[in-house]
Amino acid sequence: MSDKKIIIAIDGYSSSGKSTMARALAAKIGYRYIDSGAMYRAVTLYALNNNMIDAQGNIDTSALISVLPSISIDFRPMPDGTQHTLLNGEDVETEIRQLRVSDNVSPIAAIKEVRAALTAMQRSLGKDKGIVMDGRDIGTTVFPNAELKIFVNASAEMRARRRFLEMSDKGDNVNYEEVLANVVRRDHIDETRAESPLRRADDAIDLDNSYMTHEEQDAWLEQQVNKALHS
Ligand code: C5P
Repeated sequence: MSDKKIIIAIDGYSSSGKSTMARALAAKIGYRYIDSGAMYRAVTLYALNNNMIDAQGNIDTSALISVLPSISIDFRPMPDGTQHTLLNGEDVETEIRQLRVSDNVSPIAAIKEVRAALTAMQRSLGKDKGIVMDGRDIGTTVFPNAELKIFVNASAEMRARRRFLEMSDKGDNVNYEEVLANVVRRDHIDETRAESPLRRADDAIDLDNSYMTHEEQDAWLEQQVNKALHS
């Protein structure tokens, strides 16, 4: 591996396997991994727990904006190589993955001030490079000069099936139709919002992993990293 440190941006649709791929890559090349979606999920959990979202999904936007400066988000490395998201010091990794958060996160992520606050945090995490960050707008907005940008896609059904199996394995009581509806709804909100919509950066490399194994995907990604490091 070269001494050159770069920024690797991995963007794409919900449950496209970005995080798994980004985490494995970071571990392999000794880079820091940041799951930017976890940050939007943590803010959403905060809003839910502080009654800023009602049962119909209406958000008290001004209340949320006013508390943004007091919300801290960190990542704690775990012995098994994964990391847990901390919200104001509390480990919220399990809660942020639940459907209650998934159902509310995209409207929260559409709020301009929320994006500005999280984008600033993400840029500061990447200031020394040597980072792999996954999300929706990493290659377009957070790090438009990232040396390597990947845009991941797979069919909505394939992505929903993966998310469903992942949640069922964890013991969550979910049904496939519900998970598919959530994936489709989030894609739509993410693609059509005014602020930093989910979009492929012009200089991103496409990856459709619908029919790829993890191993094939990891090997493909490593090739792209080697090219970026030696260009
Ligand atoms: O990646 P994940 O599915 O956990 O992200 C949850 C949600 O956070 C997405 O559906 C999207 O609304 C939002 N998000 C975003 N920008 C990012 C990362 C995530 O808007 N960079």
